[in-house]
Amino acid sequence: MKKEYVIPIFVPNLGCPNDCIFCNQKKISGQSTNVTPDDVRETIEYYLENFKDNNKYVEVAFFGGSFTGIDKNVQIELLEVANEFIKEKKVRSIRISTRPDYITKDILKMLRKYHVKTIELGVQSTNNYILKKSKRGHTFEDVKKASKLIRRYGFRLGHQMMVGLPESSEADEINTAKDLIKLKPKIVRIYPVLVIKGTELEEEYKKKEYIPLTVEQAVERCKVITYLFRRNKINVIRIGLQNTEEITSPEQDGSEVVAGPFHPAFRQLVEGAMWYDSIAEKIKNINAKVKKVEIEVNPNDSNNAIGHKKINIEKLKEFYDVDVAIKSSEEIEPGKFEIKVLETY
Ligand code: SF4
Repeated sequence: MKKEYVIPIFVPNLGCPNDCIFCNQKKISGQSTNVTPDDVRETIEYYLENFKDNNKYVEVAFFGGSFTGIDKNVQIELLEVANEFIKEKKVRSIRISTRPDYITKDILKMLRKYHVKTIELGVQSTNNYILKKSKRGHTFEDVKKASKLIRRYGFRLGHQMMVGLPESSEADEINTAKDLIKLKPKIVRIYPVLVIKGTELEEEYKKKEYIPLTVEQAVERCKVITYLFRRNKINVIRIGLQNTEEITSPEQDGSEVVAGPFHPAFRQLVEGAMWYDSIAEKIKNINAKVKKVEIEVNPNDSNNAIGHKKINIEKLKEFYDVDVAIKSSEEIEPGKFEIKVLETY
């Protein structure tokens, strides 16, 4: 199987006239500075030189901002550079992220011509009241229209949603996930809301009008919706914002995060919590009072089965009085596990 590599090209707030209350892309990227075709070329070349694998699938991803909101000529200039590498067979495909209200038939025809394969829509919520509170400037209707059009034109559809938006409850987020599942995305990203410096949300937070989720609450909410997506065979490709110099713990120098459920291993917390549920469920269903069990998992899953800082092992001891030993085995399918009772009371 080919190893997948992504070359990220950050297109700052270019093309986005909006000011969603949680977003400070202008600040984070320190601009409005334009990404030039030369920047794109240099970035792609830099990454290609550093990818060691011969058998690889490389995708160029224009992240951030709203790609299709940029001046059309600039979009074409940037895509043309990526296409030079596609012609040379060094890059296989392109992905972009954009807003649901910046999708039209003409835009899709242009993206198709330039070998864009995946289009990710920033949805955030499907509740129009919550969208309005966050000043998203689009509605769920826009999401439905754009998603259908994207799929009809043969692109791979992606959605991004948030948990912990102002006035959004767990039930609202479950509804958002269910609404998105009906629109059949192939991939999803889930972001817990962080309070970032210089945003309107920071003002609300300071005035105590917005209370961010705790890490535990955010993990719980992300866990529930990840279950929903997985049950519907939708690949959750990211949970939590990428940890960078600016998106890091609020205590860290240079952090742009003021408050909120930041954790450097957020995804692992969610995956670990899901493993905890599955293991605890199995233990509860054993027809004896168990003292010690061995859980055999695929090596790729052992960290998640153990949980961040061994939390799963500790919780199973605390709540079920069971000693759990995790054993790795290539024989076990990823995501599955086998349980062996070693001792009973
Ligand atoms: S649409 Fe995206 S880039 Fe624009 S302000 Fe909102 S979150 Fe930021």
